[in-house]
Amino acid sequence: MTTIKLHNTKTRTKEVFVPIDRKNVRMYVCGPTVYDRAHLGNARPVVVFDVLFRLLRHVYGPDAVTYARNFTDVDDKINARAAERGRSIAEITGETTQWFLDDMGALGAVEPTHMPRATAYIAQMVAMIADLIDKGHAYAAEGHVLFAVDSWKAHYGQLSGRTVDDMIAGARVEVAPYKKNPMDFVLWKPSTPDQPGWDSPWGRGRPGWHIECSAMAHDLLGESFDIHGGGNDLMFPHHENEIAQSCCANPHGEFARTWLHNEMLQVEGKKMSKSLGNFFTVRDLLDKGVPGEVVRFVFLQTHYRKPMDWTDKKARDAEATLRKWRALTAGIEPAASAAAAVLEALADDLNTAGAIAEMHKLAAAGDAAGLLASAQIVGLLTPAMAAWSEAPAVDLTSHEARLFAARQTAMDSKDFSEVDRLKTAYTEAGLEVRMSKTGVELVPGPGFDAAKLEDL
Ligand SMILES: [Zn+2]
Repeated sequence: MTTIKLHNTKTRTKEVFVPIDRKNVRMYVCGPTVYDRAHLGNARPVVVFDVLFRLLRHVYGPDAVTYARNFTDVDDKINARAAERGRSIAEITGETTQWFLDDMGALGAVEPTHMPRATAYIAQMVAMIADLIDKGHAYAAEGHVLFAVDSWKAHYGQLSGRTVDDMIAGARVEVAPYKKNPMDFVLWKPSTPDQPGWDSPWGRGRPGWHIECSAMAHDLLGESFDIHGGGNDLMFPHHENEIAQSCCANPHGEFARTWLHNEMLQVEGKKMSKSLGNFFTVRDLLDKGVPGEVVRFVFLQTHYRKPMDWTDKKARDAEATLRKWRALTAGIEPAASAAAAVLEALADDLNTAGAIAEMHKLAAAGDAAGLLASAQIVGLLTPAMAAWSEAPAVDLTSHEARLFAARQTAMDSKDFSEVDRLKTAYTEAGLEVRMSKTGVELVPGPGFDAAKLEDL
């Protein structure tokens, strides 16, 4: 059996992974707060942990892995979005949940075994909070319930490597009069009549964010499970607080044994932000005609513990490679097993970059069956993702030049009928037409049909 090694954030070392129960390997990953389309950075943990899910199923068996990833469907950002759009919270969360599943599905992510919604686990959260109060780890104050970090002071901060005193000195913590220690965090808070709320021993209110993962992981995976994952931006405070809640509520359990954190994503060397104009969603990319398989390939070229830089050049190169590999493997049955070197790379703390390097070697050697079996382990070259590559690559530059020339002619003749005819035809073919003084750009949209350009 393949020996998997994983870098455990908790111990800061790469460890041999030994599941608690090899017939039921259990993994929890923090999922999205559903109020908007997932941006490209949100997709990185989805793809990283999808590869781990696939590897675990390959090694332990397809029915021997339980993967839970939540939807946070109660959050003040959701309330704000619903108010701003004049729509109900249920509409916003329902629509956004489906968007997320569609967009991540387009990246070839397999759906987790369980996808719990926070609002379906309020009773479990209330029970856990009541238990924490009983055990002296939490207290009620002014309609709130807070976790008392002083009751767990020796352990709090171990994951992210800080002490409570350091945190207080360095953090911008919300100082509230009802907090005993400024680092105490909210388990439950009161709701006004217009905010979503549930009855509880502390009045009508709603849960804080951290408690939901503790309650859902406990309900679905038990008090000790194997792997907890997420982006490294969640390590503090979110994961630290999950550990505090879960270990105090279930002192005989271990909560998660192995913690995995992926690094963040940049775009063309810069942090993605709305102000820099380099912010885009997964759907924006798909709509621009970048295939989901290409996005996945670009992601996997960087190890998950390194910052990943998205560039247009990488996307173009990935598309060229995938076209070549798809042509090489067309009509071929995958080998009985992935190449040993590919599995070895993946088993070494998910070295996807190394695995792809091995796939290049298989392609160069003409081992199409081996390449296919190896690529499919990480969700590439799968039949489900084939559609984009079956459409021939279309060179739009001649069409762009043609429309630009027609426009130059029309500026002199003042007869724009040919320009209008071409624009209509390109739009009907599913292209977005962008015209400026200096040139024309034709951008394929989701319904782009190259066949419609043939008779132009
Ligand atoms: Zn979480």
